[in-house]
Amino acid sequence: MRWAGFVLFASGFTLANAKSPAIVNVPALAAAQRPDAAVTDASCAESRSLNPSGGHIQLDFEAGDFAASPAQICAWVNRGAQAVSHYFGQFPVRDLRMVFRSADSSVVETGTTYGESRYGKPLIVIVLGRGATEAVLERDWVMAHELIHLAVPSLPERNHWLEEGVATYVEPIARVQLGQLTAERVWGDMIHGLPQGLPKAGDRGLDRTPTWGRTYWGGALFCLLADVEIRNRTHNQKSLRDALRGVLKAGGTIEHDWPIERVLAAGDAALGEPILTELYRKMATTPGTAELDTLWQQLGVSLDGRTVRFVDQAPLAPIRNGITASATGPAG
Ligand SMILES: [Zn+2]
Repeated sequence: MRWAGFVLFASGFTLANAKSPAIVNVPALAAAQRPDAAVTDASCAESRSLNPSGGHIQLDFEAGDFAASPAQICAWVNRGAQAVSHYFGQFPVRDLRMVFRSADSSVVETGTTYGESRYGKPLIVIVLGRGATEAVLERDWVMAHELIHLAVPSLPERNHWLEEGVATYVEPIARVQLGQLTAERVWGDMIHGLPQGLPKAGDRGLDRTPTWGRTYWGGALFCLLADVEIRNRTHNQKSLRDALRGVLKAGGTIEHDWPIERVLAAGDAALGEPILTELYRKMATTPGTAELDTLWQQLGVSLDGRTVRFVDQAPLAPIRNGITASATGPAG
């Protein structure tokens, strides 16, 4: 979730969780120690700070009674920061404050990311259940989702779907690329989740239909369609990742208010073709069409109950493999 505008803390706000629960069993985390892991968990627990590539994160625990230890919370932040840094080529902002508030539960309750704060830098507020264990943190998606928000400029309210769409789509992909998730899990969640982003009767396009489904999953659908189109047109040589890196390189972080056209143009410049702008024209003010069942068939992926199956003979199977290829192992 991304909060527009300057914030002075109101205490006790709660925000509903954005995504429905995952449906496929979570794999054991692969060891994903990267050379850009800046500090050890132990030193983070002591200093309450992390230095992901090109950035600095100051952690602030408003409560001290979490079941998870500071070292475990540091490791959780570090995993998210590594995945996001790897995807974007660098940590998105130079300086970040992250505040942990406690809640009477055993889950990661919410995350909210602010481009500006009273600290004079971006701020992520995580509401963490006091009973949340290390295992809960290892399964969590909220941390990576919030960190990804840092890498997209603040957009006008009508374009909020792109901010949430990038965070929703990129989060599992950034994590799978470091071996923190399996490709089966990522595709299973997409097949399960993306139908919620399809236009319903009366839809007026992404810019004019600010429902939960169209904002989170409709935005993610835009990103998936963009990723597939970019890979199609570039023979799988470029991807949405190149476009988003281009936005970041052009200075497009959450600290800056940009019109959506500027975001898309910066991404297109990195691609050398106006692919994002063209897709936006198709989906912004008209419902657009997306035949998801056909797309899954072409990508060679299906969900049979809770089991994800891949068909490597499918025409777009190389694109599917490219999207969820792990940087630490073979694609698939
Ligand atoms: Zn979000």
